[in-house]
Parts: sequence; C-alpha cells; structure tokens
Amino acid sequence: MEKEELKQAFLKLSLNERKSLLKEIEQETDPYMQAIESRRKKLDNKQGSCPHCGSFKYTKYGTDKGSKRYRCKECKSTFTEYTGTWLSRVHKKHLVGAYIELMKQEKSLDKIKEELGINKKTAFDWRHRILSGLENSNKGTFQGITESDDTFFLISEKGSGNLTRHPRKRGGTAKTRGISNEQVAVLVTADRVSEIDMQIARLGRIKKLDIENAIGSRVSEQTILCTDSHVSFKGFAIDKELEHHAIRADLKQFVKKKIYHVQHVNSIDSRLKRWIENQFGGVSTKYLQKYLNWFRTKEILKTSSNYVKEFTDYSLQDLKAWERFKAIPINYKDLLQLSTPN
Ligand SMILES: [Zn+2]
Repeated sequence: MEKEELKQAFLKLSLNERKSLLKEIEQETDPYMQAIESRRKKLDNKQGSCPHCGSFKYTKYGTDKGSKRYRCKECKSTFTEYTGTWLSRVHKKHLVGAYIELMKQEKSLDKIKEELGINKKTAFDWRHRILSGLENSNKGTFQGITESDDTFFLISEKGSGNLTRHPRKRGGTAKTRGISNEQVAVLVTADRVSEIDMQIARLGRIKKLDIENAIGSRVSEQTILCTDSHVSFKGFAIDKELEHHAIRADLKQFVKKKIYHVQHVNSIDSRLKRWIENQFGGVSTKYLQKYLNWFRTKEILKTSSNYVKEFTDYSLQDLKAWERFKAIPINYKDLLQLSTPN
C-alpha cells in the first residue's frame, strides 16, 4: 500500500480511532516504549523482584509522578519500574528511544547533543548509564571449545575532568617494553556458539584469580578451554577440572588437531582494538569496561533484526545498573591498586 493510500484510509477513521491507532503505532515504533511497557507488564504479573532486597513478594502501590509504584512485603521499601535500572533519576525519558537509536548508529556525543538538544555531559552520562546496564546481561555457560586470551590496553586518562580536551596523545607507547603496569589487561573469552565475555582484570600480567573472577561461574564440565601456555590459565583449568589445550605460539604452534586454537578470540581482540581506536580515538581506562560491555553486546546482537529493542531490553533488566554507574570512579581507583609487581 502506498503512503498516500494509507493516509486516505487513516482519514476515514473517527477522531478517536485515529488517536488510539497513533498511540499504538508510537509504541510500536519506539523500542524504548516497548521495553518499558514489557517491564511494567512483568512487574504487574509478579514476575519481577524487589530491586532493594531481591524478594519476589511485592504488591502494587499506586503511582508516583507517572510511574507505577510497588511495595516490597519483605523490606517494606517502595519502588517503581525504573528503580535500580540505569533509567533511575533520568529526566527527559521521552528522548531515550531516540538516544539509543543514535547510539546504535555510533554517532559522536557532539552529534547527539545537536540532534537531541541535550548537553554533552548528559549525552556522555547516558552512554555510561546504559552501558552499565549491559555489564551483567547475557552471561550463560561456555559450551564446547572456549577460547580465552588476555589483551592489553595502554592506561589512559583521556578526557578526565574535561570532555573536550585530549590530555594524552592518541595511541602512545609504553615507557617500558613488554607487559608492565602501564598496561590494562583485559580477559576476552568466547565459545564457538554465542557466549562471550570481556573483562578488565588488572594492570600488568593476569593472575589465576582474575580468570576465576571473570569467568569462574561461567564454565562447566562442558567447557573445553583453549588458551596460550600462560601458567595462570593452566592453574585455572586444573582448579576447575576442565579439559585444557594450551597453544604454544612460542614454538610456532598455532592449531592443535585442527580444532584447538585461539584464532577466534584473537580476531575479536583486534576488532575490539580497531573499534576503540577508530570510533572513539581511544577511551579512558576509567570507562574502558563500559566500552567492553558495548562491544560484547554488539557481538551478541550481530545478527539481530531488532537490535534497538533487544539492546534496550537487556540494558533495563539489570537492577544494579544505577549502582554500577555510580561506582565507576571507585572501580577505577581499585584498578589502580590492582597491579602485578614486575
Ligand atoms: Zn525488598
């Protein structure tokens, strides 16, 4: 049907029918509205939980400035559909759908500021609130051959205190050769089905404990670990009683028995690095984990036909997102303490 025909048909409806149809269409076209609607339904159907204590026992408790309100029977606190999520304390919620669409297109903060009429600080904050909501979503068990590898980012204070200046020149090289405490170790793990994990471990060489913290809860007897021959991976595999294939690249060994290798995860590493460099001109270490969350979600949704809707849904499922966003400076401080002695 042509647009003009559609319009004529629309005009044949009564005013009330037109209005209600427009409302339905608006919800259909705004994935953000859809996500919020499904969150409300879930809470109304007693399928949610209290964001304060995790209890499943709560009752409806009126409304609060346009939000639905609920009251927990255990801890007696009240909450709304936004409490705990990254949307908590976000004003101008009507712009969120458009914001996520621009984020999907990877528009710059300047472009977003211009298009939505919000200031750059808000555009920046929203980015990291949303990305905080993605940190814990889609974390299942690694199945079958699972490659894990550490990759390094030079520590960077880009943009700290001033969003428009780049105090550190792009790229740059470490003062010392090899792995030093100027380098942030990121552990990247992926199976060959759909599970993927990207986690900042520490400054310098990773330890067995970092691997345990990052993926310890996501491995099972079905996980076959493929890594380089670093002793931390060996120790982890022994602790977890995993089948482990260590690839000795130092002996020019790259593939074992035609199937055991780390080439898949190496290719993720290089795409990740290119994306961070080309798209953002590097990122500050303080926010690196959030960009890792973003990249991971992009990988998971690579073939999705409804990217914005799924992206929004995932980001809103996490009831610790707001806390995690607030903890960015503390986590950064902790990371600076967490360095492996040379
Ligand atoms: Zn509670």
